Amino acid sequence: MTRLEKALKHYFGYDSFRPGQKEIIEETLNNQDLLIIMPTGGGKSLCFQLPALLKPGLTLVVSPLIALMQDQVDALKDRGIDATFLNSTLDYEEMRSRYGAILQGKIKLLYVAPERLLAEKFRTFLDKIANNIGISTIAIDEAHCISEWGHDFRPEYRQLKQFRQRYPQVPLLALTATATKRVQQDIIEQLGLQNPSVHLNSFNRFNIHYQVQPKQQRSYHQLLQEIRSQSGAGIVYCLSRRNVEEVAYKLQKDGIKALPYHAGMTDEKRTINQTRFLRDDVQVMVATIAFGMGINKPDVRFVFHYDLPRSLENFYQESGRAGRDGESATSILFFSMGDWKKIDYLIEQKPDPQEQRIARQQLNQVIDYAEGVDCRRTILLRYFGERFSGNCGQCDNCLNPHPIEDWTIEAQKFLSCVARCQEKFGMKHIIEVLRGSRNKKVEQYGHHLLSTYGIGKDKTKDEWKMLVRSLLNQGLVSQSNDGYRILKLNKRSWEILRKQRTVEIAVKNKIDSQTKPQN
Ligand code: ADP
Ligand code: ZN
Repeated sequence: MTRLEKALKHYFGYDSFRPGQKEIIEETLNNQDLLIIMPTGGGKSLCFQLPALLKPGLTLVVSPLIALMQDQVDALKDRGIDATFLNSTLDYEEMRSRYGAILQGKIKLLYVAPERLLAEKFRTFLDKIANNIGISTIAIDEAHCISEWGHDFRPEYRQLKQFRQRYPQVPLLALTATATKRVQQDIIEQLGLQNPSVHLNSFNRFNIHYQVQPKQQRSYHQLLQEIRSQSGAGIVYCLSRRNVEEVAYKLQKDGIKALPYHAGMTDEKRTINQTRFLRDDVQVMVATIAFGMGINKPDVRFVFHYDLPRSLENFYQESGRAGRDGESATSILFFSMGDWKKIDYLIEQKPDPQEQRIARQQLNQVIDYAEGVDCRRTILLRYFGERFSGNCGQCDNCLNPHPIEDWTIEAQKFLSCVARCQEKFGMKHIIEVLRGSRNKKVEQYGHHLLSTYGIGKDKTKDEWKMLVRSLLNQGLVSQSNDGYRILKLNKRSWEILRKQRTVEIAVKNKIDSQTKPQN
């Protein structure tokens, strides 16, 4: 592990960087001006938060929304990171005490609203910081607010240029999710960025071909066959150490050069196996997720998930170890209802309800991917907040598309039920209401009295879920990202409800819902 990866793990608990993060952080540490364009949810904040901890002095973060500021600072404090914010909601005493802490060098990240920066008193304070403890970086979040061409112009942002003039040595970092050329140019000019390094980050890995295969009864033979059809090196991820050992052993017996790798082996043994894989002495590494972090083998041609990954984040990172050289590579996820049930059961055993909720959300996102009928790339990129219009022509769903049907009426039923439930519930509950379930939650909220109650009995739960996933993938309804996955209507949803838009979805053949976990 490199120094940066260690720091990432230490402060944030993450195992690996997302695309672009590491390069951006390295440049920030070198005091380079930067313009970062990444989708919302892509992980922009880390690009200034981690350097802030590694550089001497204070990092100033300009952020336009008070609520967001508070959230970010709370999240940092939860991780034991010294961060604070200054805005108009604080009383005099609180303000003074925060000023004190900052001047004593106890704070690494200071969040402020742009209007505050311009007050004369605050500028004097900043000068004091600059002279005493130093300003390491000024990060400007939602930098598109500086541009009249953006969707959220804020005149106060125009004044930020003064910081470049006042503190010419302090590097500026502009971050946004808005990518038009015009806005980019405006940000660079208006902030006075000097030879900025521009990072336009997409999470799309064009050269990876994504596939999901139903795991068959004789799943080992299925795996073997897939490995035999590949050339080049590959990784097979399994959940348990026992599985790793077993699969590696079987592959060896079947004449495949394979080695195991998991955290239960001695350091020495792991290093040997890893080196042999890197040197192409063996073709296949059978591993738990312990394998991969910081390992750089550009010509991995395939990554198979023999068991379900823990989360879509994990899946993306693990499958992303294929094809780093840019040449074509394959990702296959082997998926069975049995595996799903097994993991669901493990989650059920977790004592902490909060942990349970997060684990279930993560599992559900993996299931959305595995069960999805839309372009796999669209589904995967949506997780990172990136919109991909589909038809990548490379994934299994694009190569063997499911038949398309018009589900406008069903979508109207569903979305109006979301509206009737006041946009406060997730997919599962809405489906219960539509299908006329009399469970406790439905009655407790009086949802059995709604006009949409029971109007969706003609469709199974699975069919409704299929519709909802498709609506989400097409951006026709939105979902909160807080673990509750609450459905919200957006502009497009309303167009559907007003009959200004039709809905077509790819339809999968019926599956036996009896064998699935009831969630
Ligand atoms: P943005 O500011 O781009 O909208 P955030 O910085 O809020 O996105 O990050 C979105 C989510 O991704 C957060 O929950 C964050 O903790 C998580 N995240 C960021 N970087 C990583 C990483 N390297 N590994 C795992 N999760 C990450
Ligand atoms: Zn596709």
